[in-house]
Amino acid sequence: MVNCTECVINELNEMRGIMYPNLTINLEKIQDNTEKVTGICREHGIYVTAVTKCAGGNPDVARAFLAGGAKSLGDSRIRNLQDLDDIGGEKWLIRIPMISEAEDTVRYADLSLNSEYEVLKELNREALKQKKRHDVILMADHGDLREGWFDEEGFYRDLKKISGLDALRVRGVGTNSNCAGAIIPEPSSFDKLERMYIRTREIFGDDCSIFSGGNSGAYYMVENGTIPKFVNNLRFGELLLFGNETSYGKKYPFLHSDVFRLDAEIVELKEKPSLPIGKHGKDAFGKEPVFEDRGIRRRAICALGKQDITPEDIVPLEPGARIVTASSDHLIVDVSDCQRPLKVGDIMGFRCNYVSALRASTSDYVNKTTV
Ligand SMILES: *Cc1c(COP(=O)(O)O)cnc(C)c1O
Repeated sequence: MVNCTECVINELNEMRGIMYPNLTINLEKIQDNTEKVTGICREHGIYVTAVTKCAGGNPDVARAFLAGGAKSLGDSRIRNLQDLDDIGGEKWLIRIPMISEAEDTVRYADLSLNSEYEVLKELNREALKQKKRHDVILMADHGDLREGWFDEEGFYRDLKKISGLDALRVRGVGTNSNCAGAIIPEPSSFDKLERMYIRTREIFGDDCSIFSGGNSGAYYMVENGTIPKFVNNLRFGELLLFGNETSYGKKYPFLHSDVFRLDAEIVELKEKPSLPIGKHGKDAFGKEPVFEDRGIRRRAICALGKQDITPEDIVPLEPGARIVTASSDHLIVDVSDCQRPLKVGDIMGFRCNYVSALRASTSDYVNKTTV
């Protein structure tokens, strides 16, 4: 007997004419992860800004975050925030804005993270022009050395100037870690930041009530209860989408790690030697790869490449399959040990980590399906 639900799904898939490579994003799992994380954070007085940049600002992902209890949405790109324009929730631009995008920042972001007086001055000018108020969080740097005021005195001098920008509302202070300098945030990293936050509050009063303490790398301090009390916001992407924190790479079994699945189509399937033949030069990316002699192997070429993913950052779901290498558009997979009788035209699935999901999500050449 034919299962009707399956019939409908198959028909729908065919009608939709799914194109490969295809990235499937599971929204239920995202919502479930968000519910669990926001629940735990709430007990610590912390609300969560969910970061959509890894999903290329996908509006369905944003809705799943909000349904799961995220208070606001953050993305690094204005274009992504534009796509989220008709979705509820406060939108944060989490990459410090370019002066050249001041107009769109005021238009599409409710709040932006900032670290330069010159940029704030432009945002203020734009806000006056658009007759809008624009909210900002001032970034402070404790040592990861990406964005933010590092020098305390310089920060206090700029605060006075910023207080003259009437169309801006300073909502708080924030910090970032685990990025440019690969620095793990620790409770002691926050001493200087607390002083900077207190001083900012003295100037801007009750409007200034957010301390945004970092990204998925700060979650371990929530878990072990050492997160400083004044931290009341965290900005999470990876934790919600992959179920792991980023300071120690700890995976949380209560969170889903299989939100993303990438499917690609086999375009060639042949037995070939595992060692290239002839004089050795450089590969398509100017590298000199080394191959292991494993004899004659059955190799599948999938229509997927470094333009869409990085081969080190995907794992075949097909039991026995092993990635050999990739060029811009061809992924070579050793399928000699696979049980399933594969043929040209078959689809192979892959699990993605953060890097590959980011590439695939933001590639125009990868189809996206949400379920
Ligand atoms: C990307 C980013 C985040 C989210 O980082 P995850 O590691 O994915 O949690 C938070 N804040 C800023 C400023 C970012 O650039």
